[in-house]
Amino acid sequence: MKRAYNFNAGPSALPEEVLIKAQSELVNFNNTGMSVMELSHRSKEYEEVHNNAQNRLRELLNIPENYEVLFIQGGASLQFSMIPMNFLSENKVGNYVLTGSWSEKALKEAKLLGNTTIGASSKETNFDRIPALDEITMNEDDAYLHITSNNTIFGTQWNNYPKLGNGRLIADMSSDILSKPIPVEDFAMIYAGAQKNLGPSGITVVIIRKDLVAESKETIPTMLRYNTFANNNSLYNTPPTFAIYMLSEVLGWVKEQGGAEGIYARNKEKAGIIYDIIDESNDFYRGHAEKESRSLMNITFNLATDELNKKFLAEAKEAGFVGLNGHRSVGGCRASTYNAVTLEACEALRKFMIDFKNKQ
Ligand SMILES: *Cc1c(COP(=O)(O)O)cnc(C)c1O
Repeated sequence: MKRAYNFNAGPSALPEEVLIKAQSELVNFNNTGMSVMELSHRSKEYEEVHNNAQNRLRELLNIPENYEVLFIQGGASLQFSMIPMNFLSENKVGNYVLTGSWSEKALKEAKLLGNTTIGASSKETNFDRIPALDEITMNEDDAYLHITSNNTIFGTQWNNYPKLGNGRLIADMSSDILSKPIPVEDFAMIYAGAQKNLGPSGITVVIIRKDLVAESKETIPTMLRYNTFANNNSLYNTPPTFAIYMLSEVLGWVKEQGGAEGIYARNKEKAGIIYDIIDESNDFYRGHAEKESRSLMNITFNLATDELNKKFLAEAKEAGFVGLNGHRSVGGCRASTYNAVTLEACEALRKFMIDFKNKQ
């Protein structure tokens, strides 16, 4: 069987090697006579999987000792609520940089829970760029500055991160975590739903500095406090054990690819060969994002007319490409080239784009 050319935005491609290993271990994991899914989450066999996933992430992202690595359910979307719930108070304001739909959703939740402000926004130009660092307004009473490091829908990505005097930068990295090396020490907290770059859906990774964990509000429900997860090694209740096992295996695979640096080099090559075609096409393909803000993970583009977009997408589907439709808020086309998408798939797409253009 041939694997699909999967350019889905999320859930998205997983490394074939990891899927095959998971398959081979499915009915008898580590001579336990059962699947990982059937192990007690309190067993030492499961605990090893759980701790492996944390340790691999620590190693790959060089996470300093004064940060916790937590596994929480509810997706990145629940973090949109947990962050303001835990860190906003009467005289502390949540500051949001709006660079796309996900940042807007994060702001929407914070507004329900406390005071907010918008530090910068690129909405005026349909989120085609990342604001320059000196465009961002910050205030003394900011509880944090919230950014979306990669804008999955619009195809933009932060290249440099703001360096905050109060050290309270929080980033939603759902769609670019571990796609490149990250200066974790510049952030108070990083969070990411796993289903784009790290594994299957069902688990969210939260990397959080210990002083923020200590601020967890005691007046909110137990399962919504960061210290509940930190104090119990993310085993206060039953975690999604199979998703965490898959996360651990994907992290092992990233290590084999040369870690964050190795993956970054590959990602630049993969996205580069597709952006090159867009740039060389004489406006046949038109990138949505400004060049300096382009994402290595989500390549968004349009053809000259809706009709041509439809034709492109229909023929691409026919040729075996999956997930190239743009999000309904941007239209057009989007190729998501996450870590596990192969160079071969990107080369095939490049060739398809050249051939399609030449036929018109
Ligand atoms: C996909 C995505 C989300 C939503 O994640 P869920 O796990 O479905 O809640 C949030 N932020 C970004 C940047 C995303 O790409």
